[in-house]
Amino acid sequence: MEVNCEGCAGCCIDWRSLSTAAGDYEQQGRYRPLDDTYTLVPLSSDELRRFVADGFGDVLAPRLFAADEGVAVDGHTLAAIEGTPVFQVGLRKPPKPVAPFDADPAWLDTCVFLDPTTLQCRIHGTDRYPEACATYPGDNLALDHETECERVEAAFGGDRLREQTPPDGAGIDPMPLGATVFGHPDAGRLAGVVERVAAARPTDTDRAELVAVAAAHRPGSLEVDRDRYESARAAVLDADSWAGRALDEWERRANRTEPAPSAARAVEDDRGAPPTPGWD
Ligand code: SF4
Ligand code: SF4
Repeated sequence: MEVNCEGCAGCCIDWRSLSTAAGDYEQQGRYRPLDDTYTLVPLSSDELRRFVADGFGDVLAPRLFAADEGVAVDGHTLAAIEGTPVFQVGLRKPPKPVAPFDADPAWLDTCVFLDPTTLQCRIHGTDRYPEACATYPGDNLALDHETECERVEAAFGGDRLREQTPPDGAGIDPMPLGATVFGHPDAGRLAGVVERVAAARPTDTDRAELVAVAAAHRPGSLEVDRDRYESARAAVLDADSWAGRALDEWERRANRTEPAPSAARAVEDDRGAPPTPGWD
């Protein structure tokens, strides 16, 4: 597998407003996300616990799923296992001023860790870099699913997916409970939360509730450790990372100012964001 990512970031940005080649494929199938986030990166339990422990709980985004059968909450039928609503946790995507694919700069929902000036990941190669990003699009290739790289090629030309042999081990993803998929033990506590998640306006408390359950999940079961839940919930609500503060600022600026990627220096770098190397 070899990908050509310079000037792309198609798997980090919601570029649906730029081309119909970026479709709503995530909203099809048996389990459909309640939110409309494009290409959410599913974190493992170890990864999300590390984000929470390191004070980055404010960048995490829970994702619930609609299904034809499941548990009814706030008028939605949630995908569930044994009556327990299931969910994933990913990274938030605030609007940022970005110019992928040589397009004009625009406000597009973008991963909280993407540097708008270089279109490179600020946590690439660190111990926080998600496995799902490090291995992309290996699983798609192994399972013969279309990749984001090919969608970008279809829309803008170029040679993004240069070599298509999947890496060893790609495509084997049983998604065990408590690994990347979590169950909420009390659907009643999700009343109101589900409606706000579906409307793309979850509160900090809503996000903390689901992230804390995921962080306190016992692997392979639907059990949640109460003490871990309490401490994770408190940590998420206390989180005040550079990324979370930058995210709030982007949301304040979006669509009220001209989309200038160079604004990232003031919004992200000056708040402590790690630099990216560029494409020399
Ligand atoms: S869509 Fe493919 S080519 Fe583009 S940034 Fe992602 S992995 Fe790289
Ligand atoms: S963590 Fe990095 S590679 Fe993954 S989606 Fe975010 S910016 Fe892209």
